[in-house]
Amino acid sequence: MDTVCHDLRLLNADLHCHSTVSDGTLSPTVLAQRAKEHGVELWSLTDHDELGGQAEAEAAALALGMRYASGVEISVSWAGETLHIVGLRIDHRSAVLRAGLEAVRSGRARRARAIGDELAAAGIAGAFEGALGFVGNPDLVSRTHFARFLVDSGVCADVHAVFSNYLVFGKPGYVPMIWASLGDALGWIQDAGGIAVVAHPGRYRLSRLAMQEMLGEFKDLGGAAIEVVTGSHTPDQYREYAALALDYGFLASRGSDFHSPGESHIELGSLPALPDTLTPVWHNWF
Ligand SMILES: [Zn+2]
Ligand SMILES: [Zn+2]
Repeated sequence: MDTVCHDLRLLNADLHCHSTVSDGTLSPTVLAQRAKEHGVELWSLTDHDELGGQAEAEAAALALGMRYASGVEISVSWAGETLHIVGLRIDHRSAVLRAGLEAVRSGRARRARAIGDELAAAGIAGAFEGALGFVGNPDLVSRTHFARFLVDSGVCADVHAVFSNYLVFGKPGYVPMIWASLGDALGWIQDAGGIAVVAHPGRYRLSRLAMQEMLGEFKDLGGAAIEVVTGSHTPDQYREYAALALDYGFLASRGSDFHSPGESHIELGSLPALPDTLTPVWHNWF
């Protein structure tokens, strides 16, 4: 085996997590410290539709002796499903990327107000203001913040109960959202010089055929990688998406999708290594 490739595959890379700049509960600096404590060697902060934590995350990572890849997780609507596309090694000063994310965020604020109205109609008052209390900026309010409000106010026992009884299709507080198109998201990432990665593909409610269609379209648009080992996948799904990565010639990424010590079951830097049949997305970064 090529020892250089072998060592790179075993590098402790965690290329997906969230800070207080989107729906995480730790600041970029505290997350960087936590990543370092858990052995992360190559790190990326990938806040939802937001670049505001990048400068702080990079400075903290470098000060701690970690390698850093700037990142973002873009919300995309595709065939009625919300997909997440991670952009890695993006230039976070790109005007095109910044303008695109700004448009996505203003849609998020409109949706949050509508969720608040729906919950009020179901007898839960003050949800929009309550969710806003967890983040402070209407452009960044997400379902996660509504979930924290519903737990905090005693409506639900925990976040899991929220997503069984509220905010999802067929339940109070469900408001569909039109995010970016797949083509827009890939165009913004490419304009910023980055690499596009399908985040946690196992989480989407897509048939096998629709998944193949989506991955084909992603590849045609210049997409290069998929997450194989992620906090959202089971070990069976590691194998399933490793096979798809090979079928499509995609590079493979690894990331915990860590949000918060209380809510995340998967710790930063703690997932298994990528299967040895795959080429890591970071194979040519150093
Ligand atoms: Zn995601
Ligand atoms: Zn995420």
